[in-house]
Amino acid sequence: MASACSIRVRGVVQGVGFRPFVYRLARANTLAGWVLNGEEGVEIFVEGAQPGLQAFVQDLKTQPPPAASIAQIEVHAAAPVGLNEFTIRESQHRERPTVRISPDLPVCDDCRKELFDPADPRYCYPYINCTNCGPRYTVIVGLPYDRHNTTMKHWPLDDYCDAQYHDPGSRRFHAQPVACPKCGPSYSLFSDVAIVHGSAASVRKAAQLLNDGSILAVKGLGGYHLACDARNAAAVAALRERKYRREKPFALMASDIDVARGLVELSEEAEALLLSTARPIVLAPAKTELPGVAPGNDELGVMLPYTPLHHLLFAAGAPEILVMTSANRSSEPIAYEDDEALDRLGGIADAFLIGERPIARRVDDSVARVGTFGPVILRRARGYAPGAVATIPSACSILAVGADLKNSLTLVVDGQAFVSQHIGDLGDYQSLRAFQETVRDLISMYEVRPADLIVVHDSHPQYLSTAHAVTLGGRQPVAVQHHRAHLASVLAERGEWETRVLGVTFDGTGYGDDGSIWGGEIFVGSVSTGFERIAHLRSASLPGGDAAAQYPVQAAAGFLAQLDGQPNLIAIPFSFPQRYLNALELIRKDVRTFPTTSIGRLFDAAAALLGFTREVTFEGQAAMWLEQLARSAALTEPYPFPFASGELDFRPLLQSVIRDRLLGRDRRKIARAFQRGLSQGLCDALVAICQMQNLDIVALSGGVFQNELLLQDLKTLLETERIEIWTNHAVPPNDGGISLGQAALAAFGQCERSTEMARSQDENNYA
Ligand SMILES: [Zn+2]
Ligand SMILES: [Zn+2]
Repeated sequence: MASACSIRVRGVVQGVGFRPFVYRLARANTLAGWVLNGEEGVEIFVEGAQPGLQAFVQDLKTQPPPAASIAQIEVHAAAPVGLNEFTIRESQHRERPTVRISPDLPVCDDCRKELFDPADPRYCYPYINCTNCGPRYTVIVGLPYDRHNTTMKHWPLDDYCDAQYHDPGSRRFHAQPVACPKCGPSYSLFSDVAIVHGSAASVRKAAQLLNDGSILAVKGLGGYHLACDARNAAAVAALRERKYRREKPFALMASDIDVARGLVELSEEAEALLLSTARPIVLAPAKTELPGVAPGNDELGVMLPYTPLHHLLFAAGAPEILVMTSANRSSEPIAYEDDEALDRLGGIADAFLIGERPIARRVDDSVARVGTFGPVILRRARGYAPGAVATIPSACSILAVGADLKNSLTLVVDGQAFVSQHIGDLGDYQSLRAFQETVRDLISMYEVRPADLIVVHDSHPQYLSTAHAVTLGGRQPVAVQHHRAHLASVLAERGEWETRVLGVTFDGTGYGDDGSIWGGEIFVGSVSTGFERIAHLRSASLPGGDAAAQYPVQAAAGFLAQLDGQPNLIAIPFSFPQRYLNALELIRKDVRTFPTTSIGRLFDAAAALLGFTREVTFEGQAAMWLEQLARSAALTEPYPFPFASGELDFRPLLQSVIRDRLLGRDRRKIARAFQRGLSQGLCDALVAICQMQNLDIVALSGGVFQNELLLQDLKTLLETERIEIWTNHAVPPNDGGISLGQAALAAFGQCERSTEMARSQDENNYA
């Protein structure tokens, strides 16, 4: 007696070989019916004998394809209709797509074997892929995920590829980007002296140029990389100079895991992260000295090859450790269009290795590390985006536009929170353009009408993201305070809406409720009821406002102005430059001086006292420098950082630093005592507040919590206290996680109406 059921599968189930998997499963269980990609996931109808149906549903749940991620399976009994075979039906297009788009996938083992098999028609073909691997987000131009909606639509399949594409028994059945050397795109190499056509020949030439010390622009999945031999100090130095990148570390690509192991210390967890399908850049302690790659930094960022092209380059003899940095000039977003790359990178790269397949959108490499509380993503992009990171209960669609630094966007559709790839710092014109493109992209991808959107932005009236948000139309935009958004991002990742927590946001810069620069805030509350600020760092002044983030001595002036009896900081051992005196003058006259509670700036002040008196060349540099200094010393007695009347008082902390500097104490020990003092003071405050407020969960977020030594100290100190610590994992603790928190708070109405100030600002910028 035949039975039937209809099944709907939601999650990452399109473009990951799900339909062929269903087809084979149905055949194996002698079932008839069909499968198709619907707008809300994969839809299946099966009929046949009851045991076969049961086995089918069981295997569907337990053995999905490797790249699939099932969020939900609905099974309903249905009436058999008398079908006698199982087919894969054409995709349906209905009102609104809520399927998830798969992130890009690294080349799979099967394709890699074929890539290096001389008998295989795709031998050495850099665009080899199958349903288990290859590009997704970076080739999709529309939904549903079918070939005509990808950047591969210009390459019609030849008979060989076509046969595999239509063979349900093939790994390439409905593999949308499928191609072979005969019918698909190829790579070429361009330099001033030569043009080499053909993938194999151009890859060989590229490998040779890299060995000779050249800098190459290499087109990848989500944009161009600049590559050079990491062991060639002259090439690395030339790259720094041409890219205007003075000190910020370069990412590396190691040819395989063994080479990576020789390069950095990898825990089991770090190896798993390195080998995960996102193939992120993983930060880990360096074991090798590579001059110029990460100056003054004892960590290196390493990733493994993830495209067939990378494997081909190494197989063709490219140096086994390559610098692989996003192709851009300092602070611009990654280049991804060919003309743009040739134009912008002309003065940087000696040669270009360019593939013909267009890139649908720019997606940088992701950056992650295994931290004190487990894996944490510091830059969320390729391999993760645009995956959903949370389920937010909201009937309305929400677009949260993030912060101006390390910008990302979050779109909530049907309760799923999709977080965009890292966009960058919006102060740069190219990044602002990328931001606008990504807004349009996300909205159209999920077919949300702008008029139906709730747009959420930071409460900073002068943010460019704020200015853009108010132009998006639709309903009245709403604002969420920066540090509350940080805190909410931790809770949103966990789906904790009602839980009351003690939240700590230690950050560089954010616009506070009172218009001052916040960044050392302690809140109590929940996402659903909002967060009340109950304590903070003692307020200091910040001459020059946000611009002071560039100059640690400027921040130092603002903090030290509150200390009694300062020594002459122009003299040895401090040797502060003139800028310090100018900053003091601003404070004295109360010109362009703003109150601040920023822990980021407190770190800058301490770093200045310890010798970092120059300009920083990338965000957070001085604090990272201080952390490294502290790491190199053994644990020592903490400096006092007392908590009273809702204020953490930085004065004794800085006074101790000055005193010990004058006494000639080892700077590493001073840095360690400063860091430990900060942790101890915070810990005492947390214990006191938890007792008073009857709380046992502390959530930590904000850019300062990228400081692993701080997290380690807090973990140790709070271990004996029965207090649980929650931190970010799926989105960055830095401003890259802000948009998720904004979306969560807006979903629960914990936001304010956008101010008119923002609107007038907008008129200035967009007139
Ligand atoms: Zn594959
Ligand atoms: Zn072909």
